[in-house]
Amino acid sequence: MDLKKYIADIPDFPEPGVLFRDVTPLLADKDAYQESVRLLAEFGKDKNVDVIAGPEARGFLFGCPVALELGCGFVPVRKPGKLPREILSKTYELEYGHNEIQMHSDSIKPGQNVLIVDDLLATGGTVEAAVSLIEQMGGNVVGIAFLIELEALKGRDLLKGYDIYSVLKY
Ligand code: 5GP
Repeated sequence: MDLKKYIADIPDFPEPGVLFRDVTPLLADKDAYQESVRLLAEFGKDKNVDVIAGPEARGFLFGCPVALELGCGFVPVRKPGKLPREILSKTYELEYGHNEIQMHSDSIKPGQNVLIVDDLLATGGTVEAAVSLIEQMGGNVVGIAFLIELEALKGRDLLKGYDIYSVLKY
């Protein structure tokens, strides 16, 4: 199945010069969505995964169905101010400015095997920050799976040493 057919390329979004890969047509198609989740889950299936961690918001859309498929739990990685209990926080640099992600500080138990799932790997900053919080809690990052990888942005270089899989490469 040609899943790239279901990714819409949107020039100049969210700002001029950026080509945004829009996954909403893929989510809207039952076969394309199901096949994407199947491939992501296939990558995780022999990794003894205890829990999936998925960054807000599109990481939820892929991470949750993968968790159900693998029969494991799901832990959200959120933007600041969303989680109600004690949190761990990580700030990371962007080309202009910075971003911050947060996780509940007890969301990963020491020794748990964690598979990170997100829609897209660009610079790798988001997932590198998530790895750092997960490891701070004593989790083992056993793999990182994306629907899309933008190879030119070299996100893999930031995530050296981790087992990375992407369904679609651009
Ligand atoms: P990174 O931290 O790797 O630079 O950026 C990846 C994060 O930004 C992901 O959580 C992803 O959802 C979002 N993102 C960046 N560019 C795009 C894009 O072109 N399409 C989509 N769907 N998400 C993007």
